Amino acid sequence: ATPTSIMVGTGRGAELGVLFRKGEALQLLKDASVVAVDKTGTLTEGRPVLADLELAEGFERSSVLGRVAAVESRSEHPIARAIVDAAGQEGISLPELTDFESVTGMGVRASAGGVPVQVGADRYMRELGMDVSVLADAAERLGKEGKSPLYAAIDGRLAAIIAVADPIKPTTPAAIAALHELGLKVVMITGDNQVTARAIAARVNIDDVVAEVMPEGKVDAVRRLKAEHGRLAFVGDGINDAPALAEADVGLAIGTGTDVAMEAADVVLMSGDLLGVPNAIALSKATISNIR
Ligand code: ADP
Ligand code: MG
Repeated sequence: ATPTSIMVGTGRGAELGVLFRKGEALQLLKDASVVAVDKTGTLTEGRPVLADLELAEGFERSSVLGRVAAVESRSEHPIARAIVDAAGQEGISLPELTDFESVTGMGVRASAGGVPVQVGADRYMRELGMDVSVLADAAERLGKEGKSPLYAAIDGRLAAIIAVADPIKPTTPAAIAALHELGLKVVMITGDNQVTARAIAARVNIDDVVAEVMPEGKVDAVRRLKAEHGRLAFVGDGINDAPALAEADVGLAIGTGTDVAMEAADVVLMSGDLLGVPNAIALSKATISNIR
């Protein structure tokens, strides 16, 4: 491409809310064959709400929600805000918190009201040696509804399953349809559990899912998909998406996401949703073919 066509394409992108931080991205996108997307905050709003809380026998709702919310009050994960807000709305006061620790890719733990509390994914409970079988059916059911199930353990016993629901952005299905129209394969990469990830993927017609990846695992997933499918674009919004954005042939950051993601990206989507991705690819095809 000539410098002039890149300038024109970049200008047209800006009008569409697609900011090319690197001119090279405009040249590369036209030959992309796969788009890998983060789930939370990219496909979904990224503002989950508490949807269900199912108790194990012998546990009481306000006591469980209070302890769990106390632990989550120290976490920055979007899940945490959902739980803390729910406790607030129910007028539950939070017990005193000590020894907080965030366990990467797993969950959080602390001592709440003098009692050890752990909250997180089923793999976290397994690592703690906790038997989750009494709540496994509930987890499966909630996951199939597209909700993210989390387990809470209190004083060494499995206490509850908590499901948070994060609405899909209204433009997500149309964006994925447009990517299919352009001949691309769309793959979800997420730290969330398999059942939930597959339920969401099915709703928006995503072709493939890589779920339950640890934060550093997103880069490995991107590398594998690149080897398998060829030129890859990755779309994400979070701090933990930055390495994958850098590893992709073209990294596209959601403009309402974190600064860290935007700095790691080649393209920033100002609209804050996925529709900018097919727009950027279509623009790349139009711009680069025009100069031949
Ligand atoms: P993602 O946000 O994409 O799911 P993370 O690596 O941040 O990826 O988290 C992986 C999983 O660990 C989450 O899906 C959740 O099950 C669990 N987890 C992380 N942080 C928390 C938290 N503050 N409270 C409960 N569970 C958590
Ligand atoms: Mg995200």
